[in-house]
Amino acid sequence: MLDEVSITRQLQRESQFEPPFCPRSSCANHRPESAREGFWKKDGWAKLKRFPYASKRFKCRDCSKGFSASLFQLHYRQKVWGLNAKIFDYFELGASKRAIARKIR
Ligand SMILES: [Zn+2]
Repeated sequence: MLDEVSITRQLQRESQFEPPFCPRSSCANHRPESAREGFWKKDGWAKLKRFPYASKRFKCRDCSKGFSASLFQLHYRQKVWGLNAKIFDYFELGASKRAIARKIR
């Protein structure tokens, strides 16, 4: 998936997202193949300090736990977006984690 640079497009993409499963391992909807249809409901938007400055929130109807759309994406909990491709390129070349961190700033 390409990293998005437009806030409008990214928020539109997140607003269309539907979670495939509940992230709680103890929930009956945890496995994507056994998650029942419509197990989640919308729970508003959470403010973020980094791009795109908002994340759609969901709540599981069965376990009542909340989670965000970013949990299902590669950039989950990343403070800076758009570095995954560079990091993977250096990783493929055999660079150590420390060397990669030095190269990517
Ligand atoms: Zn659940």
